[in-house]
Amino acid sequence: MPLPPLTGHHGVRSRFARAVASEKLPQVILLTGSAGVGKQRLALWLAQLLLCERREQDPCGSCRACKLVGTCSHPDLHWFIPIPRPKASDPEKQVEEAAQSLAQVIEDRRSQPMYSELDGMASHGIAMVRLLQRRAALTSVEGGSRIFIIAEADRLVAQEASPEAANALLKLLEEPPAGSFFILTTVEPRRLLPTVRSRAVSVRLGPLSDAEVREFLQAHLHPTPSAEKLNERVALAGGSIGRALASEEESGKAQRAAYQLLEAVLAGSEPSLERALRQPPWSARGEFTAMLDALAETLGEAARGTVGGTPRRQVPEALLRHRTPGPLLEALEHVADAREAAWGNVNPQILLAVLSDELAEVL
Ligand SMILES: [Zn+2]
Repeated sequence: MPLPPLTGHHGVRSRFARAVASEKLPQVILLTGSAGVGKQRLALWLAQLLLCERREQDPCGSCRACKLVGTCSHPDLHWFIPIPRPKASDPEKQVEEAAQSLAQVIEDRRSQPMYSELDGMASHGIAMVRLLQRRAALTSVEGGSRIFIIAEADRLVAQEASPEAANALLKLLEEPPAGSFFILTTVEPRRLLPTVRSRAVSVRLGPLSDAEVREFLQAHLHPTPSAEKLNERVALAGGSIGRALASEEESGKAQRAAYQLLEAVLAGSEPSLERALRQPPWSARGEFTAMLDALAETLGEAARGTVGGTPRRQVPEALLRHRTPGPLLEALEHVADAREAAWGNVNPQILLAVLSDELAEVL
């Protein structure tokens, strides 16, 4: 199944197209922006532009190279997506295992090319960096450019003390082989190794317009949702197709969890402590952060309610008794702090217990 067409980001596209036409495209680019706005999709578009046989303002989409990129099977396109840590202990076997896992992840994207949430624990470990290094050392198969996309680059050799792998990567980014381009993507540029960040030209992708999200959903959701449902999803998406696509069940789950947490907080300390202890300690980090995001959104909607707006999602009644948005904004700040801490090595149960106390104080 070919990739869905790239939506929006026309300004960035034309800047890239001009740079490619004048052969001034930087060899190391960092694409930043919120989850689901299309960073990897734009990286693939750029790969297509670089490899297209026609070399026009946009990839033609119909030449052989464009088609191969469209099905993620061009031999000079290397797409690195975080994978689970290899189980083998032998370094050589780890690289083999990483290559297999990566092939599987790409295969999954091929059969389900719409945005999919990544496993919270997947990373670009040492084995992945070795794999990247090896592939970068090869020559171009088709004789043209070679493109390396490193998705979620903030998960690069994270927490793995391997100076050797880190140095190999830095060397690669410092002196990229002729004709090769490295496109890194991240939601959290601050999480990136500073040495990696300093070697890349950073380009930020803003949110898409509601009209762009709506148009995409209308074209790609089957069956097409009712106008009311569509409006609801566009509003919740906040300019991110990825969020709009996240299965309703998944986002519904995070929203319900956030709602329950708020109810527990509002009901006093015992229920909220109980809720915190029910949080799985280490697994499912992605689910935990999704819950925190939903919590922030719920509080934001409640704040909107206190200034006369209509909340666009269900919020506990008790939150709407605040006459000013102040306490809710304070609560939001605590959630943002917890969200930040959730990236580190903090036990989610403890984090949630502390957060519940802080929320109880301001709400
Ligand atoms: Zn083409």
